[in-house]
Amino acid sequence: MKSGNGILSSYGTTIFEVVSGLAREHGAVNLGQGAPEGMEPADVVARAAQAILDGPNQYPPLMGTPGLRRAVAAHEKRFYGLDVDWESEVMVTSGATGALADALFGLIEEGDEIILLEPLYDSYLPIIRRAGGVPRLVRLAPPDWTLPRDRLAAAFSPCTKAILLNSPANPCGKVYTEDELDFIARLVRDHDAYAICDEVYEHLVFDGRKHIPLMTRPGMRDRCVRIASAGKIFSVTGWKIGMLVAAPDLLRPIIKAHQFLTFTVPPNFQTAVAYGLEKEDGYFTTLIQDMQARRDRLAAGLAGVGFRVLPCGGSYFLTADIGALGNADDDVAFCRRMTIEAGVAAVPVSAFHTTGEVNRFVRFCFAKSDATLTEALARLNKYFG
Ligand code: PMP
Repeated sequence: MKSGNGILSSYGTTIFEVVSGLAREHGAVNLGQGAPEGMEPADVVARAAQAILDGPNQYPPLMGTPGLRRAVAAHEKRFYGLDVDWESEVMVTSGATGALADALFGLIEEGDEIILLEPLYDSYLPIIRRAGGVPRLVRLAPPDWTLPRDRLAAAFSPCTKAILLNSPANPCGKVYTEDELDFIARLVRDHDAYAICDEVYEHLVFDGRKHIPLMTRPGMRDRCVRIASAGKIFSVTGWKIGMLVAAPDLLRPIIKAHQFLTFTVPPNFQTAVAYGLEKEDGYFTTLIQDMQARRDRLAAGLAGVGFRVLPCGGSYFLTADIGALGNADDDVAFCRRMTIEAGVAAVPVSAFHTTGEVNRFVRFCFAKSDATLTEALARLNKYFG
């Protein structure tokens, strides 16, 4: 028998599926997968339900419904001061995952180098490799995940096509500073490259800081592909509505990839997301306050159990050093044991790395209900206490 594609076959099942499966099997509280709990705005959900009843329920335009594309353009202006033409610069995708695949397949030519920062989200590498790209990895080191500027500069070459930047970052919660963004922007400009900006956690930046899209930095407007996710903005990860903004020339080949990969995404959810993006400022500020409170609650609870909790400036994940608990397990064994024996699931941070040296950190999702966080902390206290 002939085998399937070697690159994709070489990957196991995604860590999120593995962790959630183990959590189900053992009745564990799942703080592994980044699925928010009970936080969907009721009016946005009602809007989607109504849009299904009202129809249309047929293919919308390839680029997305005009209503959502207009709403995205208005969102870019309102939050970031960006002037975006909804017709030629906005495309709706099948989640940010779809947007990433569209952008990578649309832009990469065989042999193009793509710069990535580790730890990194798990869909990037397989798609880059499958598209014929050559990943160039630069590692950020815990506990502060500071950008290693010399190593990043050295990773750029005449073959660099793009950098893929995730800020705020999953899993480490790093929010790149303005100075770091300007450093990256200069490298991108100097090498006539692009930046694919995974900004799905844009509305989850804490402690009074503001999200800064790389696209807003000098000279970067036409070099960036900005990727957003309604799943994160409205805590509806199952809807899989992503939004991609790029200058017309950059977007053109990305549209071609989208046309053959996904073609269109459900019109009813697009209607609801358009409505949601136009919500008053209070929605967005409450979301931040609410998530920040959950972050602080889980951070304090984990510290009480004996974890050394790392700072988290954004996203809905906390990373914690397990070394402080004085055990000899690596992060994979630790997460397995914690799921089975303590009844709480988390994700090993080594899963976000290409090699296994960073193996003392685990990722907890705090976008959970009070009851879930209370139960998880009670179980951890019982087990480790
Ligand atoms: N990028 C990052 C960094 C993510 O954390 C996620 C979701 N976990 C995605 C992309 C995918 O987003 P979506 O669900 O909209 O496809």
